[in-house]
Amino acid sequence: MDAARFLFVILVFEIFEFGFSESDARWKTYINKITEGVQSCQPCEQHNCSCYYRVLENDLLPFQGGVSQALLWDTVNRGVGTHYQVIKNKLYREGNCMFPARCSGVEHFILEVIDRLPDTELVINVRDYPQVPRSMKPIQPVFSFSKTSEYQDIMYPAWTFWEGGPAVWPIYPTGLGRWDLMRDDLEKSARNWPWGKKLTKGFFRGSRTSAERDPLILLSRENPELVDAEYTKNQAWKSDKDTLGRPPAKEVPLVDHCKYKYLFNFRGVAASFRLKHLFLCGSLVFHVGEEWLEFFYPQLKPWVHYIPVKQDLSDLGELLQFVKENDTIAQEIAKRGHQFILDHLRVEDVTCYWERLLTEYSKLLTYQPKKKNNYIQITRKQGKTEL
Ligand code: UDP
Repeated sequence: MDAARFLFVILVFEIFEFGFSESDARWKTYINKITEGVQSCQPCEQHNCSCYYRVLENDLLPFQGGVSQALLWDTVNRGVGTHYQVIKNKLYREGNCMFPARCSGVEHFILEVIDRLPDTELVINVRDYPQVPRSMKPIQPVFSFSKTSEYQDIMYPAWTFWEGGPAVWPIYPTGLGRWDLMRDDLEKSARNWPWGKKLTKGFFRGSRTSAERDPLILLSRENPELVDAEYTKNQAWKSDKDTLGRPPAKEVPLVDHCKYKYLFNFRGVAASFRLKHLFLCGSLVFHVGEEWLEFFYPQLKPWVHYIPVKQDLSDLGELLQFVKENDTIAQEIAKRGHQFILDHLRVEDVTCYWERLLTEYSKLLTYQPKKKNNYIQITRKQGKTEL
């Protein structure tokens, strides 16, 4: 090799190496977080829902001294939820339920496991918001689908795994539900939109249930090539003010989200039901904020299964740059998130969690529950029967 050629080779090598290490150095913090996250992530067993047990153990911790009849009835009388009883493997409920479709969604799962449940009674909050702030004394045993660390509600799997989710016209006119069917549809869509075919763009469609979503909508208006994010109507919509000064966008079904590489999840009033669906697209999930939880969230690890984004979105520009420059790494995170939900958030895992939760909770009752006379029996086939 002559001297000029040798120098050229050295130069090319230097440029390549410098360029490579510079990019590596720039993203070192993120890459380290991913490496560390993946190394420390414990795989879950697939045959049961044991990887979620820690959640119910923590939620039940404040009640280890026992749930007395007086405490339970105090909770019932506060009207923070619907009172259910399981007596001799039959399910009973007080007459009123604030959101009947939500109660039905909950009842579906309890009836699935009723033959194996001991006699018990509990108060299930079917509103969106949790009811037991840390300051509440004594702590009331209230079951809610979502909470932050500021609350001591006991989390149960949301009704929407079966029925009673938000009705979004015209895409989900009867309400978001049937997670089993949704999983199949999303899997099909994911196959139609493999990673290489997806648009390299962020995507979000949803209503303004929380103003924390505003910065993404504004970013999309400024830079539509980077992110396509628009507000749709919900039942509370009155004017363009509720869609941040623009007319509402057309609703886009979750299966059509799979066309995009980067999908956004935000809290709504509480946790949004959207999150679990996004993973099944095989897209990379950008999960904004970490306060609001559902029972399965703690098993989803930042950097391993999704990209965590600060609540104010101040790091979003950099994160999008990172994933664009590191497409293979981005795809691997997306794959892990996808696989986790596929393997560990099946309808049978949801049913399994309900059973374990109710079984463990029931052990804490310090008395033998007695059926209330005026309660209605809830049955699987006939619906509700007045007694
Ligand atoms: N949704 C959807 N496409 C839309 C609008 C909403 O799939 O165009 C879904 C969304 O993913 C969520 C549900 O409808 O699961 C309700 O969304 P919204 O943003 O209204 O409320 P959230 O529950 O997220 O606070």
